[in-house]
Amino acid sequence: MIVVLKQGASQEQREDLIEWIKSLGLDVHLSIGKMQTVLGLIGDTASVDKELIEGLAIVESVVRITEQFKKANRKFHDDDSVFEVGNAKIGDGNFMMIAGPCSVESEEQICAIAESVKASGAQLLRGGAFKPRTSPYDFQGLHADGIELLLKAKKLTGLPIVTELMDISQLKYFDEVDVIQVGARNMQNMELLKQLGKEKKPILLKRGLANTLKELLMSAEYIMAGGNEQVILCERGIRTFETAMRNTLDIGAIPALKELSHLPVIIDPSHACGIARYVKPLTLAAAAAGADGIIVEVHNNPEKALCDGPQSLKPEQFAELVKSVEKVREAVK
Ligand code: PEP
Ligand code: MN
Repeated sequence: MIVVLKQGASQEQREDLIEWIKSLGLDVHLSIGKMQTVLGLIGDTASVDKELIEGLAIVESVVRITEQFKKANRKFHDDDSVFEVGNAKIGDGNFMMIAGPCSVESEEQICAIAESVKASGAQLLRGGAFKPRTSPYDFQGLHADGIELLLKAKKLTGLPIVTELMDISQLKYFDEVDVIQVGARNMQNMELLKQLGKEKKPILLKRGLANTLKELLMSAEYIMAGGNEQVILCERGIRTFETAMRNTLDIGAIPALKELSHLPVIIDPSHACGIARYVKPLTLAAAAAGADGIIVEVHNNPEKALCDGPQSLKPEQFAELVKSVEKVREAVK
């Protein structure tokens, strides 16, 4: 971390600051130039409060040289992380297709969708049981019963399952859930992230609607710092001034996250655009940009879906999508 002092800073003020920094367990390299005095902080600055130093009267600016995220950081872990989910791998060149309805609605619905997406090449079944809806009057999910139905679909098809946990009190229902999803709205629920750090299964962490990539990585860091290093990062569209789609898919997040971190990166094209006909182009763009997979909403009767019907693919559209992804991946190899 580099601290640039204001020109008028007195020697006494400077020494007080250096003494305080040293009391934090860091060394200080002092460089007094003609125009500027600069302090180089040496040691682990992860827990140093940058804003606190910036706020001091004698400080002009502060620059962090090493990021605060350590475990998620590519600098300390050169190889891509690869996790096993069921019989499939996330990372290591495998493009993981995660598909299923927004919400689990009934046994017939989830089992029929599970069978069809499996036949088309999905490796993981999605389905919400605890739903974070914008309106409290909308369908909130089948809760524990929804997880029971997902487990039936898992038994029927052999597909592992991913579903969202909104509150740690729901964890008791997640014993046989293969991947736990943290939704966009909970990306910065630090207490939840800390608790999930104690779990031994992959966590699919969605980017918040208005969060930077660094903030996403710091949230991954919360889970990893707790001992669970299996975090899958998911870009699901962010809030911008654009209104043509539900959100704006940040395709640039894929190369940027992959440069900053060794964790797998997937895309959710469904929540990014909110419109079924845009799901394919966004998916193909994600495949071309190097994503490790997608999580996509598929419904056997989108018109009647209790949640997110307009953005849900029909099973045959999903089958077609899988084939197109293969072609794009072949083309960019
Ligand atoms: C979901 O995947 O069902 C969901 C609610 O997504 P997000 O948290 O990205 O809005
Ligand atoms: Mn949805």
